[in-house]
Amino acid sequence: MSQKKVEIAGAGLAGLALGTRLAQLGWKVVLHERADDLRMFGSGIWLWDNGLKALKILGAYDKAVANARKIREWRIEDGNGGLLMSQILLGEGRDRLLLPPRADLYEALIERAGYYGVEVHTSSVATAVRKEGVLVMESGEERRADLVVVADGAYSRLRESLFATAWMDYGVEGGFRLLVDHREGDPTDVITEWWSGPWRVMFNPCTDGSDYVYLGGPVGEDRARVIPVEVDFWAEKFPAAGDLFTRVDTASRWDRIVNVRLREWSSGRVAIVGDAANAMPPNLGQSANMAFSNAMALAMAVDGCALDDIPGALREWEARQRPLTDHVQWWSYIYNLVLGKWPTSFMPLRSDLVRLVAGMEWFNAGLFRGARHTPAGYDTRD
Ligand SMILES: Cc1cc2nc3c(=O)[nH]c(=O)nc-3n(C[C@H](O)[C@H](O)[C@H](O)COP(=O)(O)OP(=O)(O)OC[C@H]3O[C@@H](n4cnc5c(N)ncnc54)[C@H](O)[C@@H]3O)c2cc1C
Repeated sequence: MSQKKVEIAGAGLAGLALGTRLAQLGWKVVLHERADDLRMFGSGIWLWDNGLKALKILGAYDKAVANARKIREWRIEDGNGGLLMSQILLGEGRDRLLLPPRADLYEALIERAGYYGVEVHTSSVATAVRKEGVLVMESGEERRADLVVVADGAYSRLRESLFATAWMDYGVEGGFRLLVDHREGDPTDVITEWWSGPWRVMFNPCTDGSDYVYLGGPVGEDRARVIPVEVDFWAEKFPAAGDLFTRVDTASRWDRIVNVRLREWSSGRVAIVGDAANAMPPNLGQSANMAFSNAMALAMAVDGCALDDIPGALREWEARQRPLTDHVQWWSYIYNLVLGKWPTSFMPLRSDLVRLVAGMEWFNAGLFRGARHTPAGYDTRD
């Protein structure tokens, strides 16, 4: 039997994970990256049990989390330190959350992609896809494959050449991601998220040497996105965060949080994964984790079928994976509305409401439904 071939556009976390998995299953994989080299923007990343299991499948787990902190508790407090939510994570039967530097995760995936023989083309820009299995490059070259995958991120240029976007929302929040030096006395296993009106700050323990800080605020407010970061403004708003702001690198990068929903995740021999298909606010720390789960399932779906059946296998893949992805996306979106759109005059009510629901079983089940998913192909003996 001849080797099946896939062309993937985008070597972010989704494209790399999918390419590596298909190569592991024996496919010839060509991965195109628009940038000149494979690079990951800094800071940390939440990896939940579903994402960690996907990394196990790929053999990338050990390297990805070698320096990661194991998180025991995820807390939300108001700006002055009053508790709104506490989720205890470590321990028997609890939800596993590790927090490595993003660069470690990316390096681990690159290493596995190389190990399985994924062919990576950098400075390689795709401009369109066609459903019979064609990836069109900026040079005009048309590359045919049994499967073509769009993984070019939230602002995907390729999805419009095939997939009608059902909903794209620029969201209510933008934020800075920064690494700060770890200091004696900083928490090593507790994530703290402080809310003050529509503003928030998160402290994420990351490695022995540095921690990951997120500063988020309304997109319409200059101070939420101005660089250099206005340290005094943030310090005044979040007294409970102590001296954190004196340590941030004020020349940070600002990202806008977007939501993307498509009518379909595939058309003919073309599929779409990662933020290109379902970008969501990062509130549950699930976006990349879901991309990993969806990539593992996609690989299993197409690997187990005859070449002619790939379009049908892609539709079945979507039918299986999409309800969970939609669930996580909606929860992330609503979380953002509660944070960013709550009427100012009813803020005390918001605090009471968050405190109330945070302890409820249905809330807990909904919050962690994505994290509790086992990706296709995971061997439970691992
Ligand atoms: C503030 C913030 C915090 C987050 N925190 C978490 C978290 O803790 N946990 C979590 O699971 N998720 C988190 N996420 C989400 C996570 O970062 C994304 O889901 C993930 O990086 C998406 O990966 P991707 O491969 O789909 O897209 P991208 O990372 O955007 O990769 C797309 C790649 O495609 C390339 N490309 C683009 N166009 C083309 C083209 N035409 N041809 C070829 N290549 C192209 C790009 O250069 C890029 O390398 C966070 C997001 C934000 C904004």
